[in-house]
Amino acid sequence: MANQYFIDRDFPAAGEEFSVEGQTRHHIFKVMRAKNGAEFELVFNDGRIGLAEVVNAENGSMRVLKEIHRNTELPIEVTIAVGFPKGDKLDFIVEKATELGAAAVWGAPFDWSVVKWNAEKLAKKRDKLSKIAQGAAEQSKRNFIPSIELFGKLPELTEKFDEFDKVLIAYEESAKKGETTRFVQILAEQPKKLLIIFGPEGGISPREIYKFLEDGAVPVSLGPRILRAETAPLYALSVVSAVTELEK
Ligand code: SAM
Repeated sequence: MANQYFIDRDFPAAGEEFSVEGQTRHHIFKVMRAKNGAEFELVFNDGRIGLAEVVNAENGSMRVLKEIHRNTELPIEVTIAVGFPKGDKLDFIVEKATELGAAAVWGAPFDWSVVKWNAEKLAKKRDKLSKIAQGAAEQSKRNFIPSIELFGKLPELTEKFDEFDKVLIAYEESAKKGETTRFVQILAEQPKKLLIIFGPEGGISPREIYKFLEDGAVPVSLGPRILRAETAPLYALSVVSAVTELEK
């Protein structure tokens, strides 16, 4: 199977030649040293995939030979929102959440987040995470690259709740109380757009859970074990895939 790359343009007309730019051009012509006739899978802005060949390696021009009909996206559009975790855990979460089908990965400062990132640091981190998401989306043959948003304040996250059919809070206290049914029950209702929120290492504060519930979010357990901040989103995405993609 040919390597897959994303290209920032719509699917071309039949036979249309186009030039490849940016990170994709660098990968194809510098890293892969592609020659005329070399073939790659290119994913266009609308998620459509074309098997394309190099027409002229000198000027980076290519053309699509045929469309590849493949959709690897989750049936439910899932956005993962995490309280800023320590160190490079967010890099890990973005890479794995991309492989597991997340449509977007958001981050925000929670009361018990140890790290405090200023606007400049957030901008740098967002650029780095977007590159990680693109690489993971290429490797895992996604139709789309998950979008990355890092908020400066928690209200910037809660203001977006009404963009979703359902907002869930992965809440450790629900797990400790033995709650076991709500997450799968809600998936069975087949929401189109789901936001799932996860706390940082220290967890979700009473002030935050009160605000989330007041804004209409639903607390759910991810099972009896208390998972690390970087494990919980991956477990949740795996459950969504198991319930919606694997045959019963
Ligand atoms: N400090 C918290 C404690 O000891 O109770 C644990 C926080 S946990 C490391 C980080 C986040 O992962 C939690 O805030 C929650 O969002 C999620 N999480 C971990 N295990 C979970 C579970 N079994 N059920 C629901 N959410 C869980």
